[in-house]
Amino acid sequence: MHELGLTQGIIDIAIDNAQQNNATKILKISVKAGKLMALVEDSMQFYFDYLTNDTIAKGATLVIEHVPVIIKCHACGETSEVDEFGIHICPKCGEITVELVSGKEFYVDSIEVE
Ligand SMILES: [Zn+2]
Repeated sequence: MHELGLTQGIIDIAIDNAQQNNATKILKISVKAGKLMALVEDSMQFYFDYLTNDTIAKGATLVIEHVPVIIKCHACGETSEVDEFGIHICPKCGEITVELVSGKEFYVDSIEVE
């Protein structure tokens, strides 16, 4: 259950950002979340509503955009989308020495304020 801490983190960033821009209300927060983060969206939404209750982000829409798990093979150089769980193996050549290109990110992509 790491959703609470992560959700608190994105709310803090969004509010900081909004206040720096003299916004009085946050309408929408868009987040990019890699599939390896294995986030439970319902939990995030629940914590989001709870944590934003007394803030300028109250009532804001939380949009979670899931980022696929992409690996780059060290042997053949191909990049491929793979399942989020299990060992990452290059589907082209079977090599297991692969580099993670995306899938572990978690950040605020954009916010809408007024
Ligand atoms: Zn390969």
